[in-house]
Amino acid sequence: NHDVRLEFHITLFGRQDRLILCRDVTQLRHLEAMREDFVANASHELRTPLTVISGYLETFLDYQDTLPSRWGRAIKQMHEQSQRMQNLINDLLLLSRLETTHSPDHSPVAVVSMLKRLQGDAITISQNKKHSIELEAEDVDILGMDTELSSAFGNLVFNAVKYTPENGKIKIHWYRDEQGVHLSVKDNGLGIDERHIPRLTERFYRADASRHSNTGGTGLGLAIVKHVLLRHGGRLEIKSKLGAGSEFLCHFPSSRIVNNLKRTG
Ligand code: ADP
Repeated sequence: NHDVRLEFHITLFGRQDRLILCRDVTQLRHLEAMREDFVANASHELRTPLTVISGYLETFLDYQDTLPSRWGRAIKQMHEQSQRMQNLINDLLLLSRLETTHSPDHSPVAVVSMLKRLQGDAITISQNKKHSIELEAEDVDILGMDTELSSAFGNLVFNAVKYTPENGKIKIHWYRDEQGVHLSVKDNGLGIDERHIPRLTERFYRADASRHSNTGGTGLGLAIVKHVLLRHGGRLEIKSKLGAGSEFLCHFPSSRIVNNLKRTG
């Protein structure tokens, strides 16, 4: 194998001197690629048996009324957990695709209609929490991958719903300025302790493990957001205060913007 990977670090000292460090990372990259392949293959293989299990559990659920209540409860729980596992596998597959494949050709994405759809979905899933979910969006399209951006923005919006107690206020704001175009998803929910913020985009990292048990998330949402933004030349910024709320900002450079003129009609 002649595919050698070298990493260079150049440090400047004063005007003249430079320290150049060269590291052979061939082995490291090879191990990383093996790990990514393993995760992708294992997730893929788990998908089929799980589909069969959930399918049967769904059939049992249809007969719930005819079963003793103990059984009904158990089947309902098994079905919920199998769905959770399916979400986890889907997120693992998506993440490994984002990490290992090149970004496909980008085309114009109508962000405003995407955000309207996400707002509608968020209102539906948060009905019993009675949140107010507001959307303010400038008519700006960007170049990108529709499905990837939709899952990244969706993760932020649904997290805001999940981590905000009843009667919360959530605001989705899409706007442009001299620096570029930005999405802000702001809530007045639980907030996050400062020390957790730098690690939130790591896989399975959760600010408070106990919180997770009743949210049903996969722990991969923000890792997906980070990778999607990287593939779009963007970056994620997290501002939060424990007990006061959070704001997740996606920043994209102006070069991503497609339409400079307002559409008519
Ligand atoms: P999860 O499936 O656990 O929601 P994510 O990767 O989407 O995984 O988020 C990682 C962690 O970041 C969450 O477990 C939670 O602790 C914290 N978090 C994410 N969004 C918010 C938010 N809007 N408010 C408070 N905490 C949040």
